Amino acid sequence: MSLWFTETENSNLALQYNVNKVLAHKQTKYQELIVVDTDRFGRTLILDGAVQTTVADEYVYHEMIAHVPLFTHPNPEKVLIIGGGDGGTVRETLKHKSVKEVHLVEIDPDVVAVAKEYLPEISCGLSDPRVIIQHTDGIKYVADHEDEYDVIIIDSSDPVGPAVGLFREEFYADVNRALKDDGILVAQTESPWLNVDIMMPEIYQGIKASFPITRMYLCYIPTYPCGMWSFTLGSKKYDPLEVDPSQIIDLGYRYYTPELHHASFALPQFIKELIGEADKK
Ligand code: SAM
Repeated sequence: MSLWFTETENSNLALQYNVNKVLAHKQTKYQELIVVDTDRFGRTLILDGAVQTTVADEYVYHEMIAHVPLFTHPNPEKVLIIGGGDGGTVRETLKHKSVKEVHLVEIDPDVVAVAKEYLPEISCGLSDPRVIIQHTDGIKYVADHEDEYDVIIIDSSDPVGPAVGLFREEFYADVNRALKDDGILVAQTESPWLNVDIMMPEIYQGIKASFPITRMYLCYIPTYPCGMWSFTLGSKKYDPLEVDPSQIIDLGYRYYTPELHHASFALPQFIKELIGEADKK
């Protein structure tokens, strides 16, 4: 007998995984949480029916969401991560010697608990003494902080449930205030192939409304629907395109490279048009 998990994107598209074993399945206060073991991608964290991370390809997302902003900032010391309860972004952030404190604000304590139990390769940084974990709403947390962080990383789930507000223009304005005057925001900004009509232009323009330097970049993740995934970086001072590749030291990557730091900002024409940057070189 075979067991399949189906991630349904919309009424026309779904992705299926052959499951060896269901390791955890519970309804938390915020979402349905599942951990399964799959043949091709190993242990996989699923929230409300959407794959969040798999042991086989998690490095792509976590390296790209962490190292691009952390190498754009010349001296990141204090980093805030909103969401990210699996710990992958924390693990990558801690590789930077300049980082003295990482504050992880993950609304759902069950995500952290399950990641610690079933995804040790991903969650291994969560017990590092530089990491402070708080289980509260990232939207409220950011509104209560000012002029504090060098880098803020929005490692959120899709814009449903508690994550909806993490994609709004007002939230990005609060993130701007919580950053120091040379601070950098990076957010995962979804697929350029799905929900594009409203979501992607709105999110990008929402960040652009608060940050003088706003740039989208891409990576390729097999277990995210349609593969191509976007991040948007908003910066008060430093331009990620001006980073000298020779300053990008090897911290042990499997996806990120000095060349890719720049190359990931080269956008296909359809995406430039989608986000209103068709004239931008
Ligand atoms: N890499 C993932 C992706 O794009 O699918 C995201 C990983 S991480 C598991 C996303 C986390 O964001 C979830 O654990 C969820 O509980 C958390 N989250 C959602 N809304 C939040 C909010 N308002 N404040 C803090 N954390 C939130």
